[in-house]
Amino acid sequence: MESLSIKKVSIEAVNIKLDAPFTIAIGTKYNIENALISIELENGIEGFGEAAPLEPINGENQATVLATLHSCKDFLIGKSVSDYRNISRHLKTVFWAQVTARCAIEMALLDAFTKSLNLPFYKFLGGSENIIETDYTVDIVSPPVAKKNAAKLAGKGYRVLKTKVGKSLSEDIDRLLAIKEGAPGCGITLDANQGYSPPDAVHFLEELKSNNIRPLLFEQPVVKHDLPGMRFVKDHTSVPVGADESVFTSADAINIVRSGCADVINIKLMKSGIIEALDIAAIARSANMKLMIGCMLETKLALGCAVHLAAGLGGFSFIDLDPHLNPDEDPFGGGPAFTDPVYQLSDDSPGIGVFRK
Ligand SMILES: [Mg+2]
Repeated sequence: MESLSIKKVSIEAVNIKLDAPFTIAIGTKYNIENALISIELENGIEGFGEAAPLEPINGENQATVLATLHSCKDFLIGKSVSDYRNISRHLKTVFWAQVTARCAIEMALLDAFTKSLNLPFYKFLGGSENIIETDYTVDIVSPPVAKKNAAKLAGKGYRVLKTKVGKSLSEDIDRLLAIKEGAPGCGITLDANQGYSPPDAVHFLEELKSNNIRPLLFEQPVVKHDLPGMRFVKDHTSVPVGADESVFTSADAINIVRSGCADVINIKLMKSGIIEALDIAAIARSANMKLMIGCMLETKLALGCAVHLAAGLGGFSFIDLDPHLNPDEDPFGGGPAFTDPVYQLSDDSPGIGVFRK
């Protein structure tokens, strides 16, 4: 299939200032500093891929991603996008530590391939659902601001609010009480981003319980390699425990299953790439664990790709794909149509469905 061969590869930096700084337990981001790869096929079709590195999470930044993508350019020219698994396997053996760069390449390959097949990406993955509903994150802000934000989000129709914890136990509890007051009907999920010790994580849940707050999920309570510590948390609560930073690869997912330390696995394309994400999802399902999908600070491209993956595979219990970018500042248009809090996927938009503005 010569028409599916890659003729041209372009690489560029994507820099966008965020409307509001985004803070989690391990740092604050003021800008989106991502990288974009575009491939053009012999048949004239273009595929797009995005890398959203975050150093403390995946050990990559914009400079390392751009360097990796440039290193792959010559290798990609002339390859057929229908061989996407072989290409991905080869890149993994070489750039094993550069997962967000590899994710961008896989995204571009699969976008171009499914566009060539005239098939929306979620249909290619099985087309399980065409509507998915996301939660929305209330950032680490003061309790009065958290209360106001929570009430606003509930008013927009969000049914699940997520908040980042793990910086300060007493401030976390005050903020959660404020969120509950602002949005009493919403479920709450918590993400500690590795911020607690195992005993503090359990103490935190006990404090919440005494304030009549039962979260739907407690994500990554302790440092990523401390699976016994995560097991300790799980053994001392009935709140489902989620593994996020602990799972980058399918081997990590198997370790989580074997150690019995979590109830939920959070898949993010920027941790595993797209193809390994499919393996992780299969492992979680086989082990009767629940699935979550999350994102980094991404444009409509990578976020849209994650929406396609969640809808295509179906059965994700926790969907954390809230957009952080003002659509006016997004370099992409199109993609799954978003009306708070729901993404609607269309049948007549092949690939990921985004276009360069
Ligand atoms: Mg997380």
